[in-house]
Amino acid sequence: MQPEPHPPIDDFAVNAVLIAVRQAADVICDRSSLVLLLFAHAGVERFGDFRERSALGNRQLISRLGALIEQEILVRLAYSRHPPRYGYHLTHMGLDLFDVFATMVRWDNAWSPDGSAKGVLIEHLSCGASPVEPQLQCGLCAEEVTARSVVEIKASHKDVARVPPKATSYRRSSSATAANATERLHPLAHCFEIFGDKWSIEVLVSAFLRTRNFGDFQAQIGISTNILSDRLTRLVHLGILRLNTQKEAGRTGAYMLTEKGIALYPILLAIQAWADKWLRDRYRSPVRLKHRTCGQPLQLSLVCSSCGKALQRANARITVP
Ligand SMILES: [Zn+2]
Ligand SMILES: [Zn+2]
Repeated sequence: MQPEPHPPIDDFAVNAVLIAVRQAADVICDRSSLVLLLFAHAGVERFGDFRERSALGNRQLISRLGALIEQEILVRLAYSRHPPRYGYHLTHMGLDLFDVFATMVRWDNAWSPDGSAKGVLIEHLSCGASPVEPQLQCGLCAEEVTARSVVEIKASHKDVARVPPKATSYRRSSSATAANATERLHPLAHCFEIFGDKWSIEVLVSAFLRTRNFGDFQAQIGISTNILSDRLTRLVHLGILRLNTQKEAGRTGAYMLTEKGIALYPILLAIQAWADKWLRDRYRSPVRLKHRTCGQPLQLSLVCSSCGKALQRANARITVP
């Protein structure tokens, strides 16, 4: 890879985004929820169809759907009275996750080993193009947003950096460690390997904050040695981090983000924007970011790669094989 004079990734922006992402992770970031929400975005509504498509067991399916209803991301509505039958529909809050899945599809297409997002397609109904690559760009200068082009406006973190992770709501991470063969068959499996596991997200964002060594990850995240070791190994295996074996800028044995890892940033931004809209509470202020290229407050805009116009839930269709 050609060493380029990249501008540095802004720590404050990453830190601000982390707080929002952590909050969202408590709500949506386990693998089963992501799989169900992706199917819901592709139009699946009935229990039996969710079961068939997701291959989740009844108990797990009931529990996950119930949790998503409790979070007001899904709503259960009767479609038949005799016998009583219910469908599960995305609420506005759930529909608004479109940008998150769209950025995931783009990343998976670009970086997953099979390069196909496992057949997840996005069609832009406005222009008729299919599949399209959703591109997250600055609404003002229309440049694609990257980790290196975003800085935080207000670099003071008194309210932001203090929000602790809700340790109690970290669900058992068995879903992460026991990523079995069936689960890997899901669409967007490569992306869900990371975003379906909260510890992986913590390690990822710490890496964006230039945490490099095992001990520093442990101190920053407050994570047990075996879980940390497992997640670092997995992120290296997935090509998100690389372990320096040679002495590089005075560092050996350091975990560094790869370009593939840095390319996950638009997904973090999309999750942050969603969290800011739907999960903001008294614990934190809205995240205020600036686009370095044009110097203006960042307004994210998702556009279609084919026609360059806005790509939104209302004018797009997601299909999942
Ligand atoms: Zn701009
Ligand atoms: Zn288009």
